[in-house]
Amino acid sequence: MEDRSIIHVDMDAFYAQIEQRDNPKLIGKPVIIGGTSSRGVVSTASYEARKYGVHSAMPIKAAKKLCPEGIYLPVNMKKYKEVSKNIHGIFTKYTNVYEPISIDEAFLDVTGKEALEIAKSIKKDIRDKLRLTASVGISINKFLAKLASEVNKPDGLTIIEKDEVLSFLRPLPITKIWGVGPKMERELNKLGIYYIEDVQNYDVEVLVSIFGKRGKELYEFSYGIDNRPVEPRIANQSIGEEETFLKDIYDMEMLLDTLKDYSFNLSKKLKENRYLARTICVKIKYSDFTIETRSMTLNIPTNDERMIYKTAKYILLNKFNINREVRLIGLTLSNLIYPDDPIQLSMDI
Ligand SMILES: [Mg+2]
Repeated sequence: MEDRSIIHVDMDAFYAQIEQRDNPKLIGKPVIIGGTSSRGVVSTASYEARKYGVHSAMPIKAAKKLCPEGIYLPVNMKKYKEVSKNIHGIFTKYTNVYEPISIDEAFLDVTGKEALEIAKSIKKDIRDKLRLTASVGISINKFLAKLASEVNKPDGLTIIEKDEVLSFLRPLPITKIWGVGPKMERELNKLGIYYIEDVQNYDVEVLVSIFGKRGKELYEFSYGIDNRPVEPRIANQSIGEEETFLKDIYDMEMLLDTLKDYSFNLSKKLKENRYLARTICVKIKYSDFTIETRSMTLNIPTNDERMIYKTAKYILLNKFNINREVRLIGLTLSNLIYPDDPIQLSMDI
Protein backbone atom coordinates (compact mmCIF):
# COMPACT_ATOMS: atom_id res chain seq x y z
CA MET A 1 0.00 0.00 0.00
CA GLU A 2 1.31 3.45 -0.90
CA ASP A 3 2.21 5.76 1.96
CA ARG A 4 -0.66 7.82 3.17
CA SER A 5 -0.88 10.99 5.24
CA ILE A 6 -3.61 10.73 7.83
CA ILE A 7 -4.57 13.45 10.31
CA HIS A 8 -6.53 12.75 13.48
CA VAL A 9 -8.23 15.75 15.06
CA ASP A 10 -9.49 15.40 18.62
CA MET A 11 -11.07 18.32 20.45
CA ASP A 12 -9.76 18.83 24.00
CA ALA A 13 -12.34 18.22 26.76
CA PHE A 14 -14.90 19.18 24.13
CA TYR A 15 -18.14 19.86 26.06
CA ALA A 16 -16.33 21.43 29.02
CA GLN A 17 -14.23 23.63 26.78
CA ILE A 18 -17.31 24.95 24.98
CA GLU A 19 -18.99 25.84 28.27
CA GLN A 20 -15.83 27.57 29.50
CA ARG A 21 -15.65 29.50 26.25
CA ASP A 22 -19.23 30.65 26.58
CA ASN A 23 -18.98 31.59 30.23
CA PRO A 24 -15.62 33.13 31.16
CA LYS A 25 -16.45 32.64 34.85
CA LEU A 26 -15.84 28.92 34.28
CA ILE A 27 -12.31 29.37 32.93
CA GLY A 28 -9.73 27.75 35.19
CA LYS A 29 -12.43 25.99 37.20
CA PRO A 30 -13.22 22.29 37.47
CA VAL A 31 -16.21 21.98 35.14
CA ILE A 32 -18.02 18.68 34.83
CA ILE A 33 -20.58 18.08 32.10
CA GLY A 34 -22.95 15.19 32.46
CA GLY A 35 -26.35 13.83 33.32
CA THR A 36 -27.53 15.73 36.36
CA SER A 37 -29.88 13.08 37.73
CA SER A 38 -28.68 11.01 40.67
CA ARG A 39 -27.81 8.20 38.26
CA GLY A 40 -26.07 10.43 35.71
CA VAL A 41 -22.54 9.90 34.46
CA VAL A 42 -19.77 12.32 33.51
CA SER A 43 -19.66 13.08 29.79
CA THR A 44 -16.67 15.41 29.89
CA ALA A 45 -14.48 16.80 32.67
CA SER A 46 -12.40 19.94 32.16
CA TYR A 47 -8.65 19.54 32.62
CA GLU A 48 -9.00 21.29 35.99
CA ALA A 49 -11.54 18.65 37.10
CA ARG A 50 -9.33 15.81 35.86
CA LYS A 51 -6.73 16.83 38.45
CA TYR A 52 -9.24 15.68 41.08
CA GLY A 53 -9.43 12.28 39.41
CA VAL A 54 -12.73 12.98 37.68
CA HIS A 55 -13.02 11.35 34.25
CA SER A 56 -15.69 10.61 31.68
CA ALA A 57 -18.09 7.67 32.20
CA MET A 58 -17.70 8.02 35.99
CA PRO A 59 -20.98 8.34 37.94
CA ILE A 60 -21.72 11.97 38.82
CA LYS A 61 -22.12 10.86 42.43
CA ALA A 62 -18.54 9.58 42.52
CA ALA A 63 -17.32 12.75 40.80
CA LYS A 64 -19.01 14.91 43.44
CA LYS A 65 -17.19 13.00 46.18
CA LEU A 66 -13.82 13.61 44.50
CA CYS A 67 -14.58 17.19 43.54
CA PRO A 68 -17.34 18.72 45.65
CA GLU A 69 -16.40 22.26 44.58
CA GLY A 70 -16.77 21.35 40.89
CA ILE A 71 -19.27 23.13 38.67
CA TYR A 72 -21.73 20.55 37.36
CA LEU A 73 -23.57 21.37 34.15
CA PRO A 74 -26.07 19.44 32.02
CA VAL A 75 -25.20 18.28 28.51
CA ASN A 76 -26.26 20.85 25.90
CA MET A 77 -26.09 18.50 22.93
CA LYS A 78 -27.73 20.92 20.51
CA LYS A 79 -24.95 23.43 21.08
CA TYR A 80 -22.15 20.86 20.85
CA LYS A 81 -23.56 19.45 17.60
CA GLU A 82 -23.61 22.93 16.13
CA VAL A 83 -19.93 23.41 17.03
CA SER A 84 -19.16 19.97 15.60
CA LYS A 85 -20.77 21.03 12.33
CA ASN A 86 -18.60 24.15 12.28
CA ILE A 87 -15.51 22.01 12.76
CA HIS A 88 -16.53 19.85 9.79
CA GLY A 89 -16.93 23.06 7.82
CA ILE A 90 -13.29 23.85 8.59
CA PHE A 91 -12.20 20.37 7.43
CA THR A 92 -13.89 20.81 4.07
CA LYS A 93 -11.56 23.73 3.36
CA TYR A 94 -8.75 21.18 3.18
CA THR A 95 -10.35 17.93 2.06
CA ASN A 96 -13.71 16.25 1.77
CA VAL A 97 -12.10 12.93 2.62
CA TYR A 98 -12.76 13.12 6.33
CA GLU A 99 -14.45 10.64 8.61
CA PRO A 100 -16.07 11.79 11.82
CA ILE A 101 -15.76 9.04 14.44
CA SER A 102 -17.58 10.90 17.19
CA ILE A 103 -18.91 14.39 17.83
CA ASP A 104 -15.40 15.70 18.54
CA GLU A 105 -13.03 13.47 16.59
CA ALA A 106 -12.30 12.87 12.94
CA PHE A 107 -9.78 11.41 10.54
CA LEU A 108 -8.70 13.26 7.42
CA ASP A 109 -6.85 11.68 4.51
CA VAL A 110 -4.51 14.33 3.11
CA THR A 111 -2.26 12.01 1.12
CA GLY A 112 -0.25 13.97 -1.43
CA LYS A 113 -0.81 17.24 0.41
CA GLU A 114 1.22 19.13 3.00
CA ALA A 115 -0.05 17.32 6.10
CA LEU A 116 1.83 19.43 8.65
CA GLU A 117 0.73 22.72 7.10
CA ILE A 118 -2.87 21.51 6.94
CA ALA A 119 -2.76 20.35 10.56
CA LYS A 120 -1.42 23.74 11.69
CA SER A 121 -4.07 25.60 9.69
CA ILE A 122 -6.86 23.44 11.09
CA LYS A 123 -5.72 24.16 14.63
CA LYS A 124 -5.49 27.86 13.82
CA ASP A 125 -8.95 27.91 12.22
CA ILE A 126 -10.46 26.12 15.20
CA ARG A 127 -8.81 28.62 17.54
CA ASP A 128 -9.61 31.75 15.51
CA LYS A 129 -13.12 30.89 14.38
CA LEU A 130 -14.41 28.82 17.28
CA ARG A 131 -12.10 29.89 20.12
CA LEU A 132 -11.41 26.25 20.98
CA THR A 133 -8.37 24.00 20.97
CA ALA A 134 -7.84 20.63 19.35
CA SER A 135 -5.07 18.07 19.58
CA VAL A 136 -3.88 16.81 16.25
CA GLY A 137 -1.89 13.75 15.25
CA ILE A 138 -0.29 13.01 11.90
CA SER A 139 0.99 9.69 10.66
CA ILE A 140 0.78 7.08 7.94
CA ASN A 141 -2.48 5.46 9.04
CA LYS A 142 -5.50 5.87 11.32
CA PHE A 143 -4.16 3.83 14.24
CA LEU A 144 -0.92 5.82 14.45
CA ALA A 145 -2.54 9.21 13.78
CA LYS A 146 -4.91 8.64 16.70
CA LEU A 147 -2.04 7.64 18.98
CA ALA A 148 -0.15 10.75 17.86
CA SER A 149 -3.03 13.07 18.77
CA GLU A 150 -2.98 11.69 22.33
CA VAL A 151 0.69 12.46 22.90
CA ASN A 152 0.55 16.17 23.71
CA LYS A 153 -2.95 16.90 24.94
CA PRO A 154 -4.32 19.54 25.21
CA ASP A 155 -3.58 21.70 22.16
CA GLY A 156 -1.00 19.23 20.86
CA LEU A 157 0.43 18.63 17.41
CA THR A 158 2.42 15.43 17.00
CA ILE A 159 3.82 13.58 14.02
CA ILE A 160 4.83 9.94 14.05
CA GLU A 161 7.13 9.51 11.06
CA LYS A 162 7.36 6.22 9.25
CA ASP A 163 10.86 5.46 10.52
CA GLU A 164 9.98 6.05 14.17
CA VAL A 165 6.84 3.90 14.24
CA LEU A 166 8.38 0.80 15.81
CA SER A 167 10.30 2.65 18.52
CA PHE A 168 7.23 4.75 19.29
CA LEU A 169 5.02 1.70 19.71
CA ARG A 170 7.44 -0.54 21.62
CA PRO A 171 7.04 0.89 25.17
CA LEU A 172 3.27 1.52 25.02
CA PRO A 173 0.86 -0.64 27.04
CA ILE A 174 -1.22 -3.05 24.97
CA THR A 175 -4.40 -1.15 25.83
CA LYS A 176 -3.20 1.47 23.33
CA ILE A 177 -3.91 -1.03 20.56
CA TRP A 178 -7.27 -0.45 18.91
CA GLY A 179 -9.91 -2.72 20.38
CA VAL A 180 -7.91 -4.06 23.34
CA GLY A 181 -10.31 -3.64 26.23
CA PRO A 182 -10.07 -4.96 29.79
CA LYS A 183 -11.08 -8.51 28.80
CA MET A 184 -8.55 -8.84 25.98
CA GLU A 185 -5.95 -7.19 28.22
CA ARG A 186 -6.42 -9.89 30.87
CA GLU A 187 -6.08 -12.66 28.29
CA LEU A 188 -2.93 -11.12 26.88
CA ASN A 189 -1.49 -10.65 30.38
CA LYS A 190 -1.93 -14.38 30.90
CA LEU A 191 0.42 -14.92 27.96
CA GLY A 192 2.95 -12.56 29.52
CA ILE A 193 2.04 -9.76 27.10
CA TYR A 194 1.91 -6.31 28.72
CA TYR A 195 3.52 -3.93 26.26
CA ILE A 196 3.26 -3.57 22.50
CA GLU A 197 6.88 -4.74 22.35
CA ASP A 198 5.72 -8.07 23.79
CA VAL A 199 3.23 -8.46 20.94
CA GLN A 200 5.94 -7.62 18.40
CA ASN A 201 8.09 -10.42 19.81
CA TYR A 202 5.29 -12.97 20.08
CA ASP A 203 4.73 -15.77 17.59
CA VAL A 204 1.98 -14.55 15.28
CA GLU A 205 0.83 -18.15 14.63
CA VAL A 206 0.16 -18.63 18.32
CA LEU A 207 -1.76 -15.35 18.51
CA VAL A 208 -3.88 -16.43 15.53
CA SER A 209 -4.52 -19.87 17.06
CA ILE A 210 -5.82 -18.20 20.23
CA PHE A 211 -7.57 -15.08 18.95
CA GLY A 212 -8.26 -15.92 15.31
CA LYS A 213 -8.43 -12.97 12.92
CA ARG A 214 -8.16 -10.61 15.89
CA GLY A 215 -4.75 -12.13 16.72
CA LYS A 216 -3.39 -11.26 13.30
CA GLU A 217 -4.75 -7.69 13.57
CA LEU A 218 -3.14 -7.35 16.98
CA TYR A 219 0.21 -8.42 15.58
CA GLU A 220 -0.11 -6.05 12.64
CA PHE A 221 -1.09 -3.12 14.86
CA SER A 222 1.97 -3.82 17.03
CA TYR A 223 4.08 -3.16 13.93
CA GLY A 224 2.05 -0.07 13.05
CA ILE A 225 0.28 -1.71 10.12
CA ASP A 226 -3.28 -0.47 9.56
CA ASN A 227 -4.76 -0.38 6.07
CA ARG A 228 -8.22 0.83 6.98
CA PRO A 229 -9.26 3.66 4.69
CA VAL A 230 -10.66 6.98 5.86
CA GLU A 231 -14.31 6.62 4.97
CA PRO A 232 -15.94 9.96 4.33
CA ARG A 233 -19.61 10.22 5.08
CA ILE A 234 -20.43 12.29 2.10
CA ALA A 235 -24.12 11.53 2.29
CA ASN A 236 -24.53 14.19 4.97
CA GLN A 237 -22.28 16.70 3.38
CA SER A 238 -22.85 19.63 1.16
CA ILE A 239 -20.68 22.22 -0.50
CA GLY A 240 -21.74 25.72 -1.16
CA GLU A 241 -20.88 29.33 -1.71
CA GLU A 242 -22.64 32.48 -0.70
CA GLU A 243 -21.87 36.13 -0.72
CA THR A 244 -23.37 39.22 0.81
CA PHE A 245 -23.36 42.00 -1.76
CA LEU A 246 -21.60 45.23 -0.83
CA LYS A 247 -24.88 46.97 -1.52
CA ASP A 248 -28.33 45.36 -1.71
CA ILE A 249 -29.25 44.77 -5.35
CA TYR A 250 -32.35 44.39 -7.48
CA ASP A 251 -30.65 43.19 -10.62
CA MET A 252 -31.41 39.82 -12.16
CA GLU A 253 -28.36 39.90 -14.43
CA MET A 254 -26.06 40.31 -11.47
CA LEU A 255 -27.76 37.53 -9.53
CA LEU A 256 -27.35 35.21 -12.50
CA ASP A 257 -23.72 36.21 -12.97
CA THR A 258 -23.05 35.43 -9.34
CA LEU A 259 -24.69 32.02 -9.68
CA LYS A 260 -22.52 31.41 -12.73
CA ASP A 261 -19.37 32.12 -10.71
CA TYR A 262 -20.54 29.82 -7.94
CA SER A 263 -21.31 27.07 -10.46
CA PHE A 264 -17.79 27.31 -11.84
CA ASN A 265 -16.20 27.12 -8.37
CA LEU A 266 -18.41 24.33 -7.07
CA SER A 267 -17.99 22.26 -10.21
CA LYS A 268 -14.23 22.55 -9.76
CA LYS A 269 -14.53 21.46 -6.14
CA LEU A 270 -16.70 18.46 -7.07
CA LYS A 271 -14.17 17.37 -9.70
CA GLU A 272 -11.25 17.74 -7.31
CA ASN A 273 -12.96 15.47 -4.83
CA ARG A 274 -14.40 13.13 -7.45
CA TYR A 275 -17.96 13.71 -6.25
CA LEU A 276 -21.18 14.23 -8.09
CA ALA A 277 -24.08 16.28 -6.73
CA ARG A 278 -27.76 15.59 -7.11
CA THR A 279 -29.44 18.42 -5.23
CA ILE A 280 -29.00 22.06 -6.11
CA CYS A 281 -30.27 24.71 -3.76
CA VAL A 282 -30.47 28.47 -4.20
CA LYS A 283 -30.77 30.73 -1.19
CA ILE A 284 -31.83 34.35 -1.21
CA LYS A 285 -31.64 36.75 1.68
CA TYR A 286 -33.60 39.93 1.09
CA SER A 287 -32.73 43.40 2.35
CA ASP A 288 -35.16 42.88 5.22
CA PHE A 289 -33.14 39.75 6.17
CA THR A 290 -35.90 37.26 5.34
CA ILE A 291 -34.45 34.13 3.79
CA GLU A 292 -35.93 31.89 1.11
CA THR A 293 -34.45 28.68 -0.25
CA ARG A 294 -35.56 26.60 -3.23
CA SER A 295 -34.01 23.43 -4.52
CA MET A 296 -34.18 20.81 -7.24
CA THR A 297 -32.95 17.25 -7.30
CA LEU A 298 -31.57 16.03 -10.60
CA ASN A 299 -32.32 12.71 -12.23
CA ILE A 300 -28.68 12.29 -13.03
CA PRO A 301 -26.04 13.56 -10.59
CA THR A 302 -23.57 15.97 -12.07
CA ASN A 303 -20.29 17.79 -11.64
CA ASP A 304 -20.80 19.79 -14.82
CA GLU A 305 -20.56 23.55 -14.46
CA ARG A 306 -23.16 24.27 -17.17
CA MET A 307 -25.65 21.80 -15.74
CA ILE A 308 -25.27 23.26 -12.26
CA TYR A 309 -25.71 26.79 -13.59
CA LYS A 310 -28.64 25.84 -15.84
CA THR A 311 -30.44 24.32 -12.87
CA ALA A 312 -29.63 27.22 -10.54
CA LYS A 313 -30.86 29.66 -13.17
CA TYR A 314 -34.07 27.67 -13.61
CA ILE A 315 -34.62 27.73 -9.85
CA LEU A 316 -33.99 31.46 -9.61
CA LEU A 317 -36.27 32.34 -12.53
CA ASN A 318 -39.11 29.91 -11.84
CA LYS A 319 -39.21 29.13 -8.16
CA PHE A 320 -38.58 32.55 -6.68
CA ASN A 321 -40.52 35.71 -7.06
CA ILE A 322 -37.83 38.33 -6.61
CA ASN A 323 -39.76 41.50 -5.92
CA ARG A 324 -37.42 43.43 -3.67
CA GLU A 325 -33.74 44.09 -3.04
CA VAL A 326 -31.47 41.17 -2.39
CA ARG A 327 -28.74 41.22 0.22
CA LEU A 328 -27.21 37.80 -0.34
CA ILE A 329 -27.39 34.92 -2.77
CA GLY A 330 -26.08 31.43 -2.11
CA LEU A 331 -25.76 28.16 -3.99
CA THR A 332 -25.44 24.82 -2.23
CA LEU A 333 -24.93 21.35 -3.68
CA SER A 334 -25.91 18.40 -1.55
CA ASN A 335 -26.79 14.74 -1.92
CA LEU A 336 -23.18 14.18 -2.89
CA ILE A 337 -22.19 10.78 -4.16
CA TYR A 338 -19.23 9.00 -5.62
CA PRO A 339 -19.63 8.34 -9.35
CA ASP A 340 -19.72 4.58 -8.77
CA ASP A 341 -22.54 4.80 -6.23
CA PRO A 342 -25.72 3.23 -7.53
CA ILE A 343 -27.88 6.01 -8.86
CA GLN A 344 -31.46 6.12 -7.73
CA LEU A 345 -33.88 7.85 -10.01
CA SER A 346 -36.11 10.34 -8.33
CA MET A 347 -37.34 13.84 -8.90
CA ASP A 348 -38.59 15.88 -6.02
CA ILE A 349 -39.10 19.41 -7.20
MG1 LIG B 1 -11.88 14.65 22.52
